[in-house]
Amino acid sequence: MSIVLEARQVSKSFGGFLAVKNVDLKVHEGSIHALIGPNGAGKTTLFGLLTRFHSTTSGSIFLKGEDITSKGPADVALRGLCRSFQISSIFPGLTLRENVRVALQRRHGSSHQFWQPSRVLRRFDDDADRLLDRVGLRPLADRLCSEVSYGRKRALEIATTLAMEPKVLLLDEPIAGMAAGDIPMIVELIRSVAKDRTVVMVEHNLSVVESLCDRVTVLVRGELMAEGTYSEIRDNPAVRQAYIGA
Ligand code: ADP
Repeated sequence: MSIVLEARQVSKSFGGFLAVKNVDLKVHEGSIHALIGPNGAGKTTLFGLLTRFHSTTSGSIFLKGEDITSKGPADVALRGLCRSFQISSIFPGLTLRENVRVALQRRHGSSHQFWQPSRVLRRFDDDADRLLDRVGLRPLADRLCSEVSYGRKRALEIATTLAMEPKVLLLDEPIAGMAAGDIPMIVELIRSVAKDRTVVMVEHNLSVVESLCDRVTVLVRGELMAEGTYSEIRDNPAVRQAYIGA
């Protein structure tokens, strides 16, 4: 299996504090790859480095073998490496369809146009409905975002990210804060969107990691501690001690 995303010896320092230290990461094309580790381990910072929201202090990032270390987030998003938008970027006063339409307009570089011919808007609406269908939200397309559950907002967040047509999708704690009843819906959604693309996710819920993820990378205090399948990670004594506490 080929490597779609790779970090080589990446480090990130914030004012002298090394949040990520010489981390190597290889993500196989088509896999679901988890990043786990205790709070402060550097997972979110590594996400920021991979998606170019953070500049690297040292090291390199490769997407499909191409060095993207000097690229910005918009550039890598157009190359197919996208992180999920935070719920804070969802517009509560718009309907679900309108939220996805805004993401599609952004993708196609036309969000700055206040007025658009109705046939263009109709095309975006049709595409928005297809994406809402993809995440199981089509029946709620006309509902205001503020009216739907937190779990459905997270599913909407995935739909707006799919509007970017990602080949590699990075999800930061996709089930965090979610009611237990909504978790299976998001787990199935991630499994389904991962059929057509690679997924990298930061996740604290280890049973979700076990059921979804092909590979797991463990970070502790900014450093790579282990990498492997979930059962390899679970049986690794250093990981058990540092992370699981067993
Ligand atoms: P995790 O996602 O694993 O909880 P983070 O990547 O958020 O860890 O943080 C790793 C460390 O880097 C933490 O000690 C955090 O306080 C620090 N850190 C993260 N972002 C910044 C920043 N912008 N400025 C200074 N320190 C930061």
